[in-house]
Amino acid sequence: MSGKHTRVVIVGGGQAGGRLAQLLARDTDAAVTLVSEEPHPPYERPPLSKGVLLGTRGFESCLIWTEDDPAWRAVDLRLGVAAERIDRAARRIRLADGSELAYDHLVLATGSRLRTLTVPGSGLANVHLLRSYDQALALAGNFASGKRLVVVGGGFIGLEIAASARHRGLKTTVVEASDRLLARVVPERIARLLAQRHEAEGVALRMSAMVERFISNGRGAVKAAELSTGETLPCDVAVVGVGVAANTELAAAVGLDVDVGIRVDSALRTSDPAISAIGDVATFFHPLYDRHVRVEAWQNAEDHARVVAARLRHEAAVADSVPYFWSDQYDLSLQIVGLPHLGSSVVERCRDDGAAIHFHLDPAGRIVGATGLGTAGSIGRDIRLTQVLIAQRAHPGRAVLQDPDGRLKSLLAGDLPVPPPPSAAASSRSLPGAI
Ligand code: FAD
Ligand code: NAP
Repeated sequence: MSGKHTRVVIVGGGQAGGRLAQLLARDTDAAVTLVSEEPHPPYERPPLSKGVLLGTRGFESCLIWTEDDPAWRAVDLRLGVAAERIDRAARRIRLADGSELAYDHLVLATGSRLRTLTVPGSGLANVHLLRSYDQALALAGNFASGKRLVVVGGGFIGLEIAASARHRGLKTTVVEASDRLLARVVPERIARLLAQRHEAEGVALRMSAMVERFISNGRGAVKAAELSTGETLPCDVAVVGVGVAANTELAAAVGLDVDVGIRVDSALRTSDPAISAIGDVATFFHPLYDRHVRVEAWQNAEDHARVVAARLRHEAAVADSVPYFWSDQYDLSLQIVGLPHLGSSVVERCRDDGAAIHFHLDPAGRIVGATGLGTAGSIGRDIRLTQVLIAQRAHPGRAVLQDPDGRLKSLLAGDLPVPPPPSAAASSRSLPGAI
């Protein structure tokens, strides 16, 4: 498909779109256009809730393309303009500025957008959201020692913001609707360890609570949050992190298969072979799990970009990597591999230093996921070995998983080397975890 003059148009200049454009610029003669509604060239989002809030990372260090990357010259960057409409029959897209682009292959990399609260006062100044660099900068500008911060949502964004805020000396309270942190994504014991660490760092937690309204100080800014429990939390700043929804509208409007994401096969093709979807927005068929999945994670966006780049070079490629996800809070690393929610039982491995890995097994005893919490050094190697075990569809005995000295490497089929940290291998620039 790719060759001179093959026109590849990518909609969405985030992790997946930015990486794909870079790979195509390096390896093909395709004419690549990248359309992004954000005003910035492609950048990494993981540092936004970590280094950018801490004031240790500037915009340049978040850029996906290095300074001398060929992509700067080779890719036609259309920034600050949204794609509004696809014409599948004519293979053209229309942009919000009225211009049109013709394509031979179209890649939808439109990512996710934040869910917002609709409670009274949500629009007050100092009630923040965090998805983009500009939003991170605005929030960081409100981070001053001694200020009172209310974080709505005890998910990944909320907890990383809370950790960064404590580091900057803010008095921080997390308000979570569920009765525990990260209820849908990590086992209860791991959530409890994480909650204990946040409390030890001075974060106040309010579980089974929702914000019912933000109260104005009379000058357009928030001065308190009123909770469903009847409590009123005075605050100078608030931030809402209550999850995301995939940006599927462009695809849905032209009849492509859409569920919670844009539905694609394992090669990331939509129901129209001239259109692919990658990253957060794609619900893709995962051969290892024999089902469609949608994964909101940095590594997934990277993997998808590589699969489509290979396909556009006429190489066989499928998205079959074992999902990998990390979150940095204080000196703790939370790492998740595979799809833990598919497990029906858990085997816990606990170490004396407090690190814990939970292995998730399906009813047949096959390992389908793992969740680890500890310092990166204490869990990283076992998590990476588990990734290989999952890829090998291993059915390890419970005893060796449970034993903190049990050697996971001995369970591997074949004498395989331990893979490098997945994120470090994939990123040419900013290593995740390096906040
Ligand atoms: P996005 O990065 O969301 O990019 C999509 C882009 O498309 C956006 O720029 C959007 O504006 C643009 N767009 C949408 N619609 C249109 C349109 N119609 N026309 C033009 N442009 C459009 N993951 C981890 O694994 N570990 C982490 O530690 C981690 N930290 C994170 C911290 C934060 C604060 C955030 C927000 C996310 C974090 N993630 C992390 C998740 C990870 O960044 C995402 O999974 C990844 O960015 C997804 O990449 P994407 O390209 O699919 O989507
Ligand atoms: P999330 O993980 O879905 O967490 C949202 C949390 O907010 C959930 O615990 C949810 O509880 C809770 N919630 C929902 N409505 C609420 C309300 N009205 N009041 C209080 N709590 C409420 O999503 P997120 O943390 O916002 O992250 C958004 C995206 O960024 C995701 O794609 C995530 O992967 C990505 N991200 C990743 C990282 C990382 O990996 N390190 C860091 C930051 C962001 P329920 O579950 O009960 O609904």
